[in-house]
Amino acid sequence: MKWNEAVLSLKSYQPGKSTDEVKKLYGLEKITKLASNENPFGCSEKVREAVRNSTHSFAIYPDGYATMLREAVANHTGVKPTQLIFGNGSDENIQIISRSLLGSGKNTVMATGTFSQYRHNATLEGAEVREVPHLDGAHDLEGMLKEIDEKTAVVWLCTPNNPTGKYISEKDLVSFIERVPEDVLIVLDEAYCEYATAEDYPRTNQWINTFKNLIILRTFSKIYGLASFRVGYGLADEDIIQKLDPSREPFNVNTLAQNIAIVALEDQAFIEKCKDENQKGLKQYYEFCDKENLAYYPSQGNFIFIHFKQDADMVFQYLLERGYIARSGKAFGFPNSLRVTIGSTDENEGMINTIKTFLNEVEAPSNSLL
Ligand SMILES: *Cc1c(COP(=O)(O)O)cnc(C)c1O
Repeated sequence: MKWNEAVLSLKSYQPGKSTDEVKKLYGLEKITKLASNENPFGCSEKVREAVRNSTHSFAIYPDGYATMLREAVANHTGVKPTQLIFGNGSDENIQIISRSLLGSGKNTVMATGTFSQYRHNATLEGAEVREVPHLDGAHDLEGMLKEIDEKTAVVWLCTPNNPTGKYISEKDLVSFIERVPEDVLIVLDEAYCEYATAEDYPRTNQWINTFKNLIILRTFSKIYGLASFRVGYGLADEDIIQKLDPSREPFNVNTLAQNIAIVALEDQAFIEKCKDENQKGLKQYYEFCDKENLAYYPSQGNFIFIHFKQDADMVFQYLLERGYIARSGKAFGFPNSLRVTIGSTDENEGMINTIKTFLNEVEAPSNSLL
C-alpha cells in the first residue's frame, strides 16, 4: 500500500507499564505507579461528586466549542474566550499545531530529552526535526536559536521540562521569544506549571497579548488529576487560535470531561494541597539523593530525574519486580537516568527504600559514565 514514508519510520507510543500488567507479571499484590507524572492524590473530591451526579445525555454530541469550559478557563486565566483552544489532552493540541504548521520542506526545533510527542507529530507530518542537546538538563536556548532558519515553522519549549524538571526563567524566556522570528510559532508547554515554585518561574497568561507568535499549552492531566478524561487547552492570540481550529476534531472533548474540568478548576484548594505535598515529596528525594551521593536535577515539576552509575533500565527493572514502576531515561536519550513521579509521603518512602536496596545490592561498574 501507499503508506506515507513517515508512518513507516514511527513506532506507537510506549506507555509506562500498567498496574495490572505488573501485578500479573510478577505476582505482586501492591503496585506503586510513579511512572507517568499522574497525581498521586487523584483528583478533587468535588469532581468525583460531579461525576456521580452527572445527568447529561449520552446520545447527544458534546458542545464542540466547549462554551462553558471556555468561559471558566477564560476566567481562570484572565484571557479572552476567543484566545483559547481545547484539545483531547495537550497531546491533541500538539497534533493540531503540527498538522497546521509542519510538513515536508519545513523544520522544527526542540530540545533533546523532552516530551516525545513534539518529535513524533513533527515526523508524522514529514518535517525535519532539529534537536538541540540540553545543557545540564536545561534547554540550550542559544543553541536552539542558532538552529532556526527560514524553513523553521515551530519551536517547542517545555518548562518545567519533562523529564529533567528544569525550567526556563522569566528573563531567559523573554529574551528567547524576542529573538525568535515573528513567523515562527513558539510552543510553550507548561503541563507542570502549577507545581512550579521558583520565584523567577514566569506566569505567562498575558504574554499572548504581547507575543503574537506564542501558544501556551496547559493540561488537566497532571496536577488536576484528570488524565483519564483527556482535557488540555492552549492560550494564544486569536489569529493563531482561528488558524489552528480547522485541524481540530469537531467534538474532541467529551461532555463529561468538559463539565468536570469546570468543577476541577473551582477547587483551587485541592491544587494548593497537591503543590505543597509535591514540595514535601521533592524534599524527601533531595535528602535521600544527597545522602546517597546520587546526582539529580532539582525539579520544578512533580517528578525527579535521578542519575545512576549504571544503565537506568537495570534500576527500572529492579524496582518493577518489587512493585515500583518508574520510567527509564533511555527513551529520552538519558540511558543512566530514571524519572520518578513524586508520590505521597508513604509512596516516596517505599520507592526510596527500594532504590536504596538496589544501590546496596547491585555494585556499580567502575567504568561508569556519570
Ligand atoms: C503529560 C504531558 C503532556 C500531555 O498531556 P495530556 O493533556 O494528558 O495529553 C503534554 N506535555 C507534557 C510536557 C507532558 O508531560
